Amino acid sequence: MHTSVHWDVIIIGAGPIGLAAAWNYAREHRDHKVLVLEQHALFTQLAGTSGEERHWRLQYSELEIFRLTLEADKLWRQLEQQADRKLIHRIGSLWFGDADVWTNEGQIRQTMLSMDEMRLPYERLTMREIERRYGFTGLDSNYEGFLQQDGGVIDVKGTLASLYSLASEAGVEFQFQQCVKAVEPDARGATVLTTQNRYRARKVLVASGPGSKKLLRQLDIELALSTYEMACISMLRSQRLGANDPFWFAFQPPVESDSNLFYGFPPNPWSVNGFDRLGTDFEVDPITEANAPGYRANPQHVERALEFARRHMPFLEPDKQHSAASCLAVLPTDPARQFYLDSAKGRCHGGEHLVVSAGGWAFKFTPLMGQICADLLAEREPRWDISALRF
Ligand SMILES: Cc1cc2nc3c(=O)[nH]c(=O)nc-3n(C[C@H](O)[C@H](O)[C@H](O)COP(=O)(O)OP(=O)(O)OC[C@H]3O[C@@H](n4cnc5c(N)ncnc54)[C@H](O)[C@@H]3O)c2cc1C
Repeated sequence: MHTSVHWDVIIIGAGPIGLAAAWNYAREHRDHKVLVLEQHALFTQLAGTSGEERHWRLQYSELEIFRLTLEADKLWRQLEQQADRKLIHRIGSLWFGDADVWTNEGQIRQTMLSMDEMRLPYERLTMREIERRYGFTGLDSNYEGFLQQDGGVIDVKGTLASLYSLASEAGVEFQFQQCVKAVEPDARGATVLTTQNRYRARKVLVASGPGSKKLLRQLDIELALSTYEMACISMLRSQRLGANDPFWFAFQPPVESDSNLFYGFPPNPWSVNGFDRLGTDFEVDPITEANAPGYRANPQHVERALEFARRHMPFLEPDKQHSAASCLAVLPTDPARQFYLDSAKGRCHGGEHLVVSAGGWAFKFTPLMGQICADLLAEREPRWDISALRF
């Protein structure tokens, strides 16, 4: 094992946040050496970005997070310009269900109040209107919802590819297949250890998604995060092939087996395959050392999604052809918290040389969190109020 070149910044994880941080830091510090270490490859399906798309929304129940999505929106538009590529397709964000149910996405009623306060336009819809307009059937009579038209779907691979290109152009170096085993901060910087190599840096960002908790625990930094393997099922459409359907999320009261939350994407505007995807948002069976991820969708969860489609989405063909995949979602266990993003100053010896970004439904914040990480790596106060993210 040898210590290679000394780096100004090492970023652990080439997921969206690591890539966005690398690009933002490198373009502001052209003479600094920035390295990204990734245990798999770009576009890995074994961490938080498997699949093709993520939900883009402005609305949040919590005003302090809501304000951050409005800032993220501006940065996405800048990123699209820099990358010369459309990354968010604003097909709309439809929320429906029991307006009083609280979920890890928030609550419909409180979110409508928050949209009123933030003056974000939306269209309130009754259960009948939702069924008539979007083809759902058999929804509970007390269901209601809204359409927020600026929401939509983010192109995951387009975003990762754009950030990788921009970061490379800004001089960032990448090493793939390098699994970081330990980070050892000290008074002057930090040592990063992989199986093959030992690296030195002035600053280190831990943006390792499902891998962050383990790395931080070695430093006695305990983040209250749980990782779940969530299912996503692709199904063919039999009818309603129009391209105008929005992303949807169904807020339902939990049932005995799971949280009973489903969401779905119509065929992606950039895709040619014509499949809808249904996701289960079930916080059950967290990943532990005894319960390692199998990287396949739980068959019971797949059946629950197929059952939802059979009951409520007559325009799909769940029994004709479907395929299922899984993805690792890292979520704070405290329902009042959405994310962890902060310097580790004061949390361990040399913590001032460590920045941590972990947890939550964070893809929509990619350019914002990347910039915040870059600010913290440069020991600058972030330009937005991130008190809701700090730990
Ligand atoms: C099913 C599902 C649906 C989701 N839907 C949405 C949504 O609609 N909207 C939204 O905003 N967000 C959504 N998310 C969350 C979003 O995808 C994640 O928040 C986001 O991917 C987190 O980015 P990240 O860069 O922090 O971590 P990741 O994307 O997990 O990337 C971390 C990277 O670090 C690497 N790594 C891990 N450990 C190590 C190590 N020890 N050494 C080196 N490399 C390491 C991993 O291989 C990976 O490439 C969803 C997630 C899932 C699973």
